[in-house]
Amino acid sequence: MLPPVRCLTCGAPLGHLYEPFKKRVEAGEDPEKVLDDLGVKRYCCRRTLFTSIAYIEQISKYSTSRIARYKELEKGANA
Ligand SMILES: [Zn+2]
Repeated sequence: MLPPVRCLTCGAPLGHLYEPFKKRVEAGEDPEKVLDDLGVKRYCCRRTLFTSIAYIEQISKYSTSRIARYKELEKGANA
């Protein structure tokens, strides 16, 4: 899933908060405190940020369309 652009429930913009939240939590800060510092007060928004996992980069390497495109490019380079 891509990082959330908006809260899935109330629609509040969250896209600009995902990276700072992720970096601070990975650095070892308490997620509750980080959400408070970022001004995320509603529990729906807190849930959306807290439970989002951006795994698009992990699954994109298994994309069949991407592999097919690489093969097309390789054929073009060899022709
Ligand atoms: Zn919300």
